[in-house]
Amino acid sequence: MSTSWAQFKREEIFIDGTWRKADSGRMIDVFDPASGEVIGQVPEAGADETRAAIEAAARAFETYRKTTAEERAAMLRKLASLIEDNKEPLAQLLTKEQGKSLTESRGEVAMSAKYILWFAEEARRVYGDTIPSPWADRRLMVTKEAVGVVGAITPWNFPSSMLARKIGPALATGCTIVCKPATQTPFSGLAWGLLCAEAGFPAGTVNILTGSASKIGGELTSHPDVAKITFTGSTEVGRILLAQAATTVKKVSMELGGNAPFLVFDDADIDRAVAGAIASKFRNSGQTCVCSNRIYVQAGIHDAFVEKLAIAAAGLKLGSGFEDGVEQGPLIDEKAIEGVGSFVEDAVSKGGKIVQGGKRVQRDGFFYEPTVIVNASSDMRFAREEIFGPVAPVFRFETEEEAIALANDTEYGLACYFYTRDLGRAFRVSEELRYGIVGVNEGVVTTEVAPFGGFKQSGVGREGSKYGLDDYLETKYVCIGGI
Ligand code: NAP
Repeated sequence: MSTSWAQFKREEIFIDGTWRKADSGRMIDVFDPASGEVIGQVPEAGADETRAAIEAAARAFETYRKTTAEERAAMLRKLASLIEDNKEPLAQLLTKEQGKSLTESRGEVAMSAKYILWFAEEARRVYGDTIPSPWADRRLMVTKEAVGVVGAITPWNFPSSMLARKIGPALATGCTIVCKPATQTPFSGLAWGLLCAEAGFPAGTVNILTGSASKIGGELTSHPDVAKITFTGSTEVGRILLAQAATTVKKVSMELGGNAPFLVFDDADIDRAVAGAIASKFRNSGQTCVCSNRIYVQAGIHDAFVEKLAIAAAGLKLGSGFEDGVEQGPLIDEKAIEGVGSFVEDAVSKGGKIVQGGKRVQRDGFFYEPTVIVNASSDMRFAREEIFGPVAPVFRFETEEEAIALANDTEYGLACYFYTRDLGRAFRVSEELRYGIVGVNEGVVTTEVAPFGGFKQSGVGREGSKYGLDDYLETKYVCIGGI
């Protein structure tokens, strides 16, 4: 394949191995968030195109499910190699439509390849069981089978790797898939169509649609041939999809919003905690579901921590993701700028003090300064809501019990982090936190080998790791009598 990122920019949808426009001919503009300029268009597909994609996936499933694990693993390995070989153009495409720095885009694309390779390896380890029989003349066995056609909907903040976590296990187990990437970052999603075809996956195994979220989502969640819905996005949209999927009792995996607490105890290594806070808060300009949303610092080290955090945040280089050394790209759009601004205004009106940043950057595109706010309190909106931007609110606490109670006081339960050098405290706090992902003295913990997912209203199911395969498998019990 070529090294030019433009080769991966397809302005068509991918159904049954064929690239085409929407029936209506209508197109949607896609923007570069660093400049606000239009960089291309994608088709505005709706229910009819979705139905066609589901029918193609259902037909493909009849033969694809009968391929051997060995054959599927070989195609997935090829897919992982193709992603690696084209890392640079894929990363450039990602930065162009999403804004994150090229360094982060390269990391995301590399992560996509790792997920695919992981599931290539796991494809060959889908074991069943034999169960000791309570009857002398019968034998009991348990096998695992592909769920069927999967409907996948993904967000704009990780347009490549969020699809890797769904396409990987679906293809590994023998499922076929219909994907709808986010409208703001569709090109990295459509690129999966090119890559999967090149890797040898048969027509209809992977289909990719862009267009009306409610029409595509409505069809995916109601069509009887779709066996499973896998969604990554906001809890708000997750609730809608869960309700819609209930009418045909589909299997569901939901990777939803977070409100990650970041606790720093008096006995922590402050420099390590500051580095972790910067990494977990400002990655992707604060637009990740595992970004620290609330930083709680014990009173004894509060002021020292804040001073170092403000200096580190001020030192982050901001600019277009294509500029050398940039660490903070733009936010995704104007609405995101307004949203972040409203959190800052709310905090200031309730006694919050800005010690770094606090305003929009005056240049083209959607840039907001890395911001640190102290005197944060529970009545401020960010105590309950996901900020999804580069604002770090710092709260003060006195005791371990208080910190745990504050950290758990949310409807979310995706990721959390805490810093301590006391081994007993590391275990105590880790066991009390009601979160699916816990970073102890670490601010970046995502890897393809570990389960990713949330407690409470942060979701249902896990992605990555051996657990990430289970959600794409049915369990079949076979009882053989008359032996
Ligand atoms: P979003 O608004 O929920 O959108 C996510 C996806 O859902 C997009 O493809 C969107 O399509 C689609 N969608 C919107 N309304 C829909 C509907 N009625 N029916 C079907 N699909 C619909 O989320 P976002 O703003 O893109 O992403 C940010 C959110 O994702 C945050 O809450 C973040 O925490 C969460 N997230 C979670 C994880 C995780 O693993 N837990 C990972 C990353 C992000 P359009 O783009 O066409 O609107």
